[in-house]
Amino acid sequence: MDLLDKFDHIVQQRASLPFENIDPFTVVIEEILSETEAVIGGRKTILAGTNNYMGMTFNEDALNAAKHALETQGTGTTGSRVLNGTYSGHKNLEKTIAEFYDQAHCMVFSTGYQANLGMISTLAGKDDFVIIDADSHASIYDGCALGNASTVRFKHNNIDHMERRLKRLPEDAGKLLVVEGIYSMIGDTAPLKEMLAIAKNYGCTTLVDEAHSMGYCGEHGRGIAEQQGVEHLVDYTVGTFSKSVGTVGGFCVSNNPKFDILRYACRPYVFTASLPPSVIAGAMEAVRSFSRSGNRMAHLWGNANRLHGGLKNAGFNLATESAESPIIAVNLPDMMVATHFWEQLMLEGVYVNMAVPPATPVGINLMRVSICAQHTSEQIDQIIERFIRTAKKIGLELN
Ligand code: PMP
Repeated sequence: MDLLDKFDHIVQQRASLPFENIDPFTVVIEEILSETEAVIGGRKTILAGTNNYMGMTFNEDALNAAKHALETQGTGTTGSRVLNGTYSGHKNLEKTIAEFYDQAHCMVFSTGYQANLGMISTLAGKDDFVIIDADSHASIYDGCALGNASTVRFKHNNIDHMERRLKRLPEDAGKLLVVEGIYSMIGDTAPLKEMLAIAKNYGCTTLVDEAHSMGYCGEHGRGIAEQQGVEHLVDYTVGTFSKSVGTVGGFCVSNNPKFDILRYACRPYVFTASLPPSVIAGAMEAVRSFSRSGNRMAHLWGNANRLHGGLKNAGFNLATESAESPIIAVNLPDMMVATHFWEQLMLEGVYVNMAVPPATPVGINLMRVSICAQHTSEQIDQIIERFIRTAKKIGLELN
């Protein structure tokens, strides 16, 4: 028996999708032209499917800091901080992130995935409960599994269902509520204000993943907890450098005085190589530049509203009533339509994300459009125009 046989059904499902020339699972970005454009399949293409919300990938300060660190400190640290040593850059980055979040402690991880994996599995062990939204990111699910805690799911963003779940748990058990600020596929916001208050009533420790909300939500760009005025109800904030910060890496901040024990107890922190100096330096400058970025946040929101309004007026079925984030998701009737739509849109020179089951719940087939502060109004209008042309081409009825 080939142990890979168990994935045959996925291979068959993919093979049954009617892509003719390009497909989203094998597409190659051949040349990056800027934060918003690339060459794909020999064609100049508008990038509307990145998580580069604040357009930091070409930020001049971040680039210069990263280049300098690369030249002076080398390409990598070649090991774990616990065994092979912490660089002063790691400490400076942790101080920068802790200050940005106005928290006492910060731990930097090698990816955002590892931040969730590490924090959740270390906080919630065998006898504890983790209460999560059903639409949680895979790193949250994997963190629950690694820690061996009992996982309790509630319906997406459903406050009543969450409370009913909490009511049934033993009063004196260890409980960790994990929610995201913005959910990455639909781009909708969690009702953190209500959820966190209820969770605290039931004695939960709270962890909020602000991966998709950092940089542009709240006065300082700290995320949805800041936007909704409930940062005091969050015990642990997890985030990533791979989206608004424009590089790679993850972090957790907290005011818990016992926080540093995690540096020894958290396996996805201990047993992996630390971030390379160039990434550390680039991330630090990108986060610092959030506070200097003037109207970048406003421009991003302007783009999000323009795109949402344009697609809605054109008659597309959108997943949210208004733009809650730079992620605008367009609902399509089924996987076949989604396949045709995605490929035709690529031929029109617009790259978006095709999100279909199992990445989305059954029956949800999305063109996930995500935009950047650096997109011009003309580019946003082009995206809308090409969406409309694509709909006509494949015979998709608009409302
Ligand atoms: N949390 C959420 C909500 C995410 O969407 C992602 C990545 N898409 C992660 C964590 C993991 O972050 P990274 O890609 O930086 O590992």
